[in-house]
Amino acid sequence: MFKRFTITFWATVFVGVVCLSLVGVDVWRSLTMRDELLQEMERLGANVTRAMSQQADDTIKAADIALADIVERIETEGQGAPALRRVERQMVAQVINLPQLIGLYVYDEDGRWIVNSRGVQNQAYNNADREYFIYHRTHSGRGPHVGIPVVSRSTGKWIIPVSRRLDKPDGSFGGVVLATLDVDYFRRFYQSFDVGARGAVALISNGGVLMLRQPFDNGRVGGSMVDSELFRHYSQLSGAARTTSAFLHSFHDGQMRLMCFRPLEHYPLFVTAALSRDEMLERWRRDTFTRSIGVLVLAALLGFFGKRLVDQIKLRGEVEAELRTARDALESANRTLERQAMSDGLTGLANRRQFDVTLGNEFSRAIRHEDTLAFIMIDVDYFKQYNDRYGHSAGDEVLRAVSKLIRALTPKRPGDLTARYGGEEIGILLPNTDLAGAQAVAERIRQAVEQLQLPHQGSGFGVVTLSAGVATITPQRGVHLQGMLVEAADQALYAAKSAGRNRVSLATEAVPAG
Ligand code: GH3
Ligand code: MG
Ligand code: MG
Repeated sequence: MFKRFTITFWATVFVGVVCLSLVGVDVWRSLTMRDELLQEMERLGANVTRAMSQQADDTIKAADIALADIVERIETEGQGAPALRRVERQMVAQVINLPQLIGLYVYDEDGRWIVNSRGVQNQAYNNADREYFIYHRTHSGRGPHVGIPVVSRSTGKWIIPVSRRLDKPDGSFGGVVLATLDVDYFRRFYQSFDVGARGAVALISNGGVLMLRQPFDNGRVGGSMVDSELFRHYSQLSGAARTTSAFLHSFHDGQMRLMCFRPLEHYPLFVTAALSRDEMLERWRRDTFTRSIGVLVLAALLGFFGKRLVDQIKLRGEVEAELRTARDALESANRTLERQAMSDGLTGLANRRQFDVTLGNEFSRAIRHEDTLAFIMIDVDYFKQYNDRYGHSAGDEVLRAVSKLIRALTPKRPGDLTARYGGEEIGILLPNTDLAGAQAVAERIRQAVEQLQLPHQGSGFGVVTLSAGVATITPQRGVHLQGMLVEAADQALYAAKSAGRNRVSLATEAVPAG
């Protein structure tokens, strides 16, 4: 079935397939790269949140251990002046040791400053209004409390308060021990992550308070996020889903972001990283765009030159086909011309020219093979009268009919030839035939024509008849000429005419042998 398609078709298919696969491979590669990038992005989000939660947990833990220690001391050693001095020294040492720690403070049950790491006793300040103070006064729990970030009264810096409750010996509220964590300490760590220009990381309390955000947002830090989509999504997660959580979320700026969450191990806080998918894909888009243009230009060039190639092939095919057609037409015209040149227009028999050529050839062959060559000369009887009476074109018709009959009755061996010798004379050349054989042929033809019963009032027979002279020759080189055979047959024909016509005469004398 493949033969049905031309080379042009296959060339077109080839160029098309090459162009398509070029584009296809590029599209496939781009999509794979995009998938890889997005996976990379999820890994980045997971790593960033893991590092952040670990760091936050460690940072708070260190401060909390110091707090627990101070609580323990004050509760066992009391609040006498020497005991407080020892506590103060301890607090100063802790603040020097822990870089995240700005200060350590002890307040009494009314919020008054008792002792702190800063070495000043400012009685003008009272911290009874702070959130953490109110929390401990109203909660009897002894665990740590991570408060809402505030701007410090003593330093003017953003701090995260971590506190524990002091109990009086009777178990009633005895005050608060407070550690203030430097928000900048966290920020410096968060700045070390490359989350892109449109990405953000944040530390958020399980209660929905935004503790810290990078890039920093003065207006929102310390505020509630309870109503945000982000918080709502996180709070719906539980168990293992929390630690592995990542989801795509469209923000108010219309950008899709990958959100990753991770809770802290020991404190009711979680961290989150939001990565802009568009930003992550931007470089991929740029690369893909430039490469696609390259590939398209390549495909277009390939298509263009491919098309030209196909056109050339097609053109060549067409020219070849035209040449073939022209050659065939020429050959067939030649054959027609040849046939016309060698045959007689009226009767369709061989003409005199072909007869002469064939006689020459057969004569030579007969000499070489020492064969006998027979010749019959036929002539229509009283044909002049026929023409006179019935008209020339009726005479032509008779010639045609007689020729047709003669051709049908002449042997068809190779070398046998029936030719219009001239006028209304027809010659039959029969190679390799003896006199008796040729006579039989001539007699058969004579009878057949007579039986045609073509009316001929000008003839004594009443119908068209013919006479024939038959001669044979076994030619020898240098002795016989081809004209001798024709002459002998002609003489026999003359004899037939003289003897009354409508008969076959044989050449009485054999053609003389030298
Ligand atoms: P004979 O019996 O002796 O042969 O008498 P004939 O009248 O046939 O005499 P001859 O053979 O000499 O006559 C030849 C005539 O044949 C002359 C011519 O008018 C006629 N003839 C020759 N060629 C053609 C031809 O192509 N068409 C027609 N209609 N007549 C032809
Ligand atoms: Mg004649
Ligand atoms: Mg005649």
